[in-house]
Order: sequence, then C-alpha cells, then structure tokens
Amino acid sequence: MAFWSQYSTLFRSERFGCFLYNAMSNCLLELDQAHYDYLRQLENNPGHAEEGIGDAFFELLREKHVLVEEEENEKLLMIKQYQRNCNCYGQQNLSLTICPTLACNFDCSYCFENSQHDTTVMSDETIDNLMKFITERAGSGKVSLIWYGGEPTLAFDAIETVTRRIFDDGPELESAQLVSNGFLLDKKNPDLFNDLKISNIQITLDGPQAMHDRRRKLLNGGTTYDRIIRNIDRLMDSSYNGSCDIRVNIDKRNMDFFIPLREQISDRYPKKKISVHASKLKTTQPWGLSESEWITYCIKLYYDHGILTKSMFYPHSNETGLCVAHFNNMYVIGPSGELYKCWEDVGIPEMTIGNVNSKSPITKHHIQAQYTIATDQYAHEECKACSFLPICSEICPKTWLDARKNSVNKHDAYCTHYKTHLSECMDVFYDIYLTAETGKKLLNKPVTPLEAYGYRIIQSSRDGLSDQAQ
Ligand code: SF4
Ligand code: SF4
Repeated sequence: MAFWSQYSTLFRSERFGCFLYNAMSNCLLELDQAHYDYLRQLENNPGHAEEGIGDAFFELLREKHVLVEEEENEKLLMIKQYQRNCNCYGQQNLSLTICPTLACNFDCSYCFENSQHDTTVMSDETIDNLMKFITERAGSGKVSLIWYGGEPTLAFDAIETVTRRIFDDGPELESAQLVSNGFLLDKKNPDLFNDLKISNIQITLDGPQAMHDRRRKLLNGGTTYDRIIRNIDRLMDSSYNGSCDIRVNIDKRNMDFFIPLREQISDRYPKKKISVHASKLKTTQPWGLSESEWITYCIKLYYDHGILTKSMFYPHSNETGLCVAHFNNMYVIGPSGELYKCWEDVGIPEMTIGNVNSKSPITKHHIQAQYTIATDQYAHEECKACSFLPICSEICPKTWLDARKNSVNKHDAYCTHYKTHLSECMDVFYDIYLTAETGKKLLNKPVTPLEAYGYRIIQSSRDGLSDQAQ
C-alpha cells in the first residue's frame, strides 16, 4: 500500500483555488474541488487510495511521489544527497573570483569590507603563481572568472595581464564578469572589455541620484551618480557587446526608490542589453529587511510592476551546491594570492584557506570542509526530519555557519523561505503560468483546461514552465 508522503502539501489559494505540491518531485498540480477533497481524505486515510479516483490520476500521484512506498523517500533523499556531493566535490570547470586589489575609491555606508585603504595590487610574482594554480586546477577543463574587489578597475592592468596570460598559455576562458562601482569605467576603451571576454558588467546604483549619492560616496565624500550614469551612457553607445546589470542593494531606507530608478534606466536605455535587479542588503542594522519583509516586497514588485525576482517564486531541487563555498573547484583570490571560500571572507586573515604563492596552495582544509560538509543539510537530523529538505537549496553557507555559531534562532536565519511562504510564492508562479497560457491561447497553441481532467500539472521540474495537462 502506498502512503501519503511527508513532502506532499495540499493548499487552497484565496486567489486561485486548490493545489498540491510535492517537494520531492518539485511538482505543482492544480486541482478541482473534487480532486482536492479526495486528496484531503487520502492524506488522512491511506486506505482511501484503494477506492481510486481514476487510474491515470493515481499513477500520477505515484510517479510524482505524492504517494510513496515504505522507504521510498529515504532512497530518493539519498539520491539527492549523492547528486549534491557529486556536484560539489566533482572536478567541474574551475571558477575563480579574483580581487586584483582590495582598495576602493568608495566609502559605502554599508560595506562589509574594511579594506578600502589597503592599496596592495596583485604583483607579477603572484600573477605567475596564480597562473600555475589556474593551469593545475583547470586541468583539461575551462576557467571562468569574476573580477571583484575592492574596486577591480583600480587594478585594471592586473586584470588585463591575467586574462592575456590565460589566452596565451592557460585553459580556455569560458566567461568573465566584472563587478564594479562603475566610477572609473571611462578610463578604459569599451573595446577592451570585449577583448578580455568580459561579457557582463555589474554596477551598483542604490536609487535615483539623491538616494544613491547619500549611500555610495567617494572616499573624499564626493558624489558618484552623475559620473556612473555618464559611464553607462558611454558603455551602451559603444561597441561593447556584453550586457550590463544594475544591482540595487535594498533596505528599508531605499526600498521605495527601486521602481523610480528602474524606470529611469529603462527610459534612458531602450533596447539595450541592460537590466536592473533588486538585491536584499545583508545587514543586522534596524533598517535591514527581515526575510519575511523581503519576500513581501518581492511579491509586491511582481503584482504591482510585473517584476520577477530570481530564485523567489518556485523552488529549486536541492541537488547541487549554492556558491563558491560549496564547490570544490571554486575559489576567491585576494591581491596577495590568498585564497578564500566566500566573498564575504575577503580581507579576513583567519578565513584564508591558503595562498597561491605557497608550494601547497591550500593548507587550511578545515575551513573548506566546514563550508561544504558542515552546511550539508542531508547530514543534519533536524533537516532530515524537515518537509522542505528536498527544496531547501538557497541557503548561504556563511549565514548557516554564523547562525549556528552564534546560537541565534537558526531557523529564522537560514531556513528556506518556502517553509513560511509556500502558497504566496506559488500564487505568483501560478499567475505567471496563467499569463503564459493566455499568450498561448492568443497564438492558437493548444492549452488543456483544468476542467478536462479535474487536475493538471503546472510545473513538473525545476526549470521553465510546463503546461503539460493530464
Ligand atoms: S557563503 Fe554566502 S556570502 Fe559567502 S559567497 Fe556563498 S552566498 Fe555569498
Ligand atoms: S535548513 Fe531549515 S528548511 Fe532547510 S531543511 Fe533544514 S530545517 Fe528544513
């Protein structure tokens, strides 16, 4: 006999009706009232399954692990854990975040780095050893780079030297991205970004001019908005063939300024490869948004303005790692060749895991292990008992470790937001689905309505939308 899985959730949305979500298969079904009522009974009385409601529906419930055999979930979880470990510890392509300097010409009010005045720039000797590190670690694979800092454009010569040496005698450079405050971009010919294979430049603007200038000043107190905008103008009018991504760090003080900025940018650069995205500022200050406030804000951005926030409205299956901290072949490298496993560790000596200038570059394996093994939810009893484990995939490893170290309310600090906001997020997802469905109808593409079978699959996997009706 099959049992109701602990990973299956029935819920009724005020806006959209009845749904069933299964976290193990990451599948969302829309139900009519009869199917919903049937499943409510089934949830509380497994024997009810025998009465049936149609073989096809019953088979679907089995296929999507809504109903499971004994020990089926344990096996499925083990597979997910195995896949996660393969992904994290396998020798995937090398991915490096390189800080050619930690110096910065800005003094942002919320910066977590305290190294603006450290003027060290990556030396030729460190670049030589970095090249050895890259060649050894990449093996026959490729390398991708993110240029980070400090402000990386303050050490652009090092960016150029490393990239050209990779072209000359390193592995294939798959992609490069530049994370910059945007102030000094006019010092370089935009063609150079193409030459260095920089296909995306991320620039932070924290709102329209007055708001931005209040938060992101020069070290000498000068304003920065005007010059950054002029530099983006120049970039967008140039032969640069990559994209530009404007990041807006959001807290309570500037959350109402995101839309005005976004509108200004889209008016100013029509049909250009430029996007604007909101990012929650990580801070313990009272003006920081709680996770719940952030989700409410993103939902409002969607309903009021049609803006989709990445990784917010539909879960990813928990079969891979999240960031550099989880993956074996990803590192952050500082200007003196020091190696880290997290962007936020940059400049903190006790968080280095080694140095490319040493004969054995990695020496502090325990820090590396801590970021991967100690943050593996599959190894924690409380997570193994949690109904969200199969989709708890977006937890920052550093936040996890800090929360456990400081004994703060761990679950508030790092549990997936679907634990508390599943139906609200699914509402948004379903609304997106309906919009796509309307588009299909307009194009005379086939759409199977709910009424045809009394249930239909809205989403059956982690990527993309599915309207495959049953
Ligand atoms: S551990 Fe967290 S802060 Fe560090 S790189 Fe990963 S996501 Fe970013
Ligand atoms: S971190 Fe929280 S939500 Fe995620 S599996 Fe563990 S207990 Fe569940």
